[in-house]
Amino acid sequence: MTTTATTSTGLQLADITLTYPDGTSRLTALDQVNLSVPAGTITAVVGPSGSGKSSLLAVAATLITPDTGCLTIAGTDTRGLSRHELTTLRRTTIGIVFQQPNLLPSLTAAEQLQVMAHLDGRNPKTARTRALDLLDAVGLADQADRRPHQLSGGQRQRINIARALMNDPAILLVDEPTSALDHDRGAAILDLITTLTHQKATATVLVTHDRSLLTTVDAVTEVHDGRLTTAART
Ligand code: ADP
Repeated sequence: MTTTATTSTGLQLADITLTYPDGTSRLTALDQVNLSVPAGTITAVVGPSGSGKSSLLAVAATLITPDTGCLTIAGTDTRGLSRHELTTLRRTTIGIVFQQPNLLPSLTAAEQLQVMAHLDGRNPKTARTRALDLLDAVGLADQADRRPHQLSGGQRQRINIARALMNDPAILLVDEPTSALDHDRGAAILDLITTLTHQKATATVLVTHDRSLLTTVDAVTEVHDGRLTTAART
């Protein structure tokens, strides 16, 4: 008997098309996009401004429902899920690293992470231990009690990444994490995201316009006018 291999983990976009209203017609932001990101791997998405990168992340994050196509997240086909079910899926399965860390000024580094567990109703003691473990994983074990204004831009971005991992997501979506950093700090952040992807077995999608940093990622995909092509590495 032959068995068909199925990917029950990771992230799959199949034939995704997304349009936005544009005057009397519609603008196609994603055009029959196919992308598969296995667990434990990182795919970088590169492309010029306006090519569809943010739209792709928003669809993968279940924040926008595509016109057609199928989004599968950690084995769950998201078609037909209610708004409430999507919110729960997002909270338990997806970690998002936005471009700007948006940390709360009055909270320490550890507390920024603990808030995530609090929102999810988890045990505060376990949350503290997990927060400290994750700060250690991003190289900030000795900064746990510092507040954002006492930290550098690179350190704040590390907290942003650790926070996205707090609820142990299967999927990690990262939007231009190096845009506010110089080249060396940006390269260190990219290395860190790749290492964490492999360690924590997340399926990671990273959007960036900076190809020079993409030496460690597992795959590079280019987006042009809403269409994906496999890109050669620089
Ligand atoms: P990128 O992230 O690569 O800059 P986007 O995904 O933001 O690209 O945009 C892709 C295309 O969709 C662009 O032509 C953009 O103008 C358009 N677009 C993005 N968001 C909206 C929106 N909310 N309404 C209408 N058009 C949009």
